[in-house]
Amino acid sequence: MTMESDKSREADAEKADTASLKMDGRRQIFEARGLWKIYDMGEVKVTALRDVDFDLFDGEILVLLGASGSGKSTLLNILGGLDKPTEGSVRYRDIILSESDDFQLTQYRRKHVGFVFQFYNLIPSLTARENVELVTEISDDPMPPEEALELVGLEDRMDHFPAQLSGGEQQRVAIARAIAKRPNVLLCDEPTGALDLETGRIVLRALERVNEDLGTAIAVITHNAAISAMGDRVIQMSSGRISKTIINEKRAPLEEIEW
Ligand code: ADP
Ligand code: MG
Repeated sequence: MTMESDKSREADAEKADTASLKMDGRRQIFEARGLWKIYDMGEVKVTALRDVDFDLFDGEILVLLGASGSGKSTLLNILGGLDKPTEGSVRYRDIILSESDDFQLTQYRRKHVGFVFQFYNLIPSLTARENVELVTEISDDPMPPEEALELVGLEDRMDHFPAQLSGGEQQRVAIARAIAKRPNVLLCDEPTGALDLETGRIVLRALERVNEDLGTAIAVITHNAAISAMGDRVIQMSSGRISKTIINEKRAPLEEIEW
């Protein structure tokens, strides 16, 4: 199956018009058009993204919702400069990521993007503070590690090692580490995937607080529809396409979110 045959077969298919769903008065920070991602596995080719148009706006919380395998991580990795599309363009402000080389992508990630993953990837032999310091030591204008940890409610846990912290606390250290370099955007791939409801809420609350206090744009991947309510916008993915975009007039308070 080639990309071309895929394309012509699907040319008539309804394409979700995300581009026209603008957020009033907000600057667009990401613009992706016609994104395709095909993983070439030799014998088989896996099409992970099929002609995706995507925008992300300054200061918004965007929830990227979809079943496992629908292409969410692939899209997030492309936005984060961890991977490149097979075809199509993606731009962050004036940086054209789809045309950047590895060095430029590394610079881009270092300067502009914070990542939070499902598993916290903390260094076990370092305390919470030291895990955050690893990042602040190589950043231009970092916040003090203490400030980042306070923002996620871990002021009493700074000198704890990961093994002395709960899963939710470890995830909040990971968030503190991601925001300490003051990124403009935080990309979160299933940040509550390994957590129970109550702990998950606390982690999502920490993300909300980052958004409110620092104005950081946040994209949160989830397969959990309940989490959609916390977003300004919800983009649903299915089989490598955007199947639906919803604008929430008001974000729901996290206390009301159940899963
Ligand atoms: P999601 O995050 O929504 O679960 P992914 O973006 O991880 O989906 O995956 C989309 C599709 O691409 C899946 O079919 C997956 O198996 C495939 N895929 C993802 N990453 C790779 C890779 N590195 N190599 C080959 N196939 C991949
Ligand atoms: Mg994924």
